[in-house]
Amino acid sequence: MNILDTLAKINLLGLDPSRGVLVFTAYWRPQPSDPNPEQPGERAIITSYLRTNAGDLCPCGSGKHFGACCQFLPYWQPVCPNPGMHAGYSLLVPQSATFTNISGDEISDFLQDDQRLYCIEDTKQRMYWTYWGVPALKTPSGIVSFGDIELIKNHTLLMTAISDVRMKTLHKPAELGYAADPARSYNTSGEASPEITTR
Ligand SMILES: [Zn+2]
Repeated sequence: MNILDTLAKINLLGLDPSRGVLVFTAYWRPQPSDPNPEQPGERAIITSYLRTNAGDLCPCGSGKHFGACCQFLPYWQPVCPNPGMHAGYSLLVPQSATFTNISGDEISDFLQDDQRLYCIEDTKQRMYWTYWGVPALKTPSGIVSFGDIELIKNHTLLMTAISDVRMKTLHKPAELGYAADPARSYNTSGEASPEITTR
């Protein structure tokens, strides 16, 4: 689901941007009627309004108080929860990173073993993991998802996240895969870092 479509559907007229922020939270939940309820499961983005006082830390993640930051901006600053329990929020910045010509077999083994990732698709064409973290945050709406890692045709790795903090978090499990083979440590060397695109 496209996050901007979700934003367009909200009735913003009834909400006061000077008293709170919009929070986007993505959830994964099994689909009981599917042949395999766990794969791919159902994904949903739920928007909520987080009341914020002037003296609270601004949910945009700036480190300033709301009153000295986003409170009186003439537009909405949508945010999303950071990975982890009680880890605060960050400004919504949808982005992706693509790694090409990778050895998919090695990478997929590493990612499959990572407790923070949950595999929701496993076919020859595509493997797909969503980042839950440890412990996974279970709510009545589903398990909170903080980003996605996709292995396409065993040679392209695509990471998508909707904030800078999330993208940094997502890089960590993937780096384990690169670290396994120093000859292919282009991810950590910095000189051939992935292309980050903001949509
Ligand atoms: Zn702010």
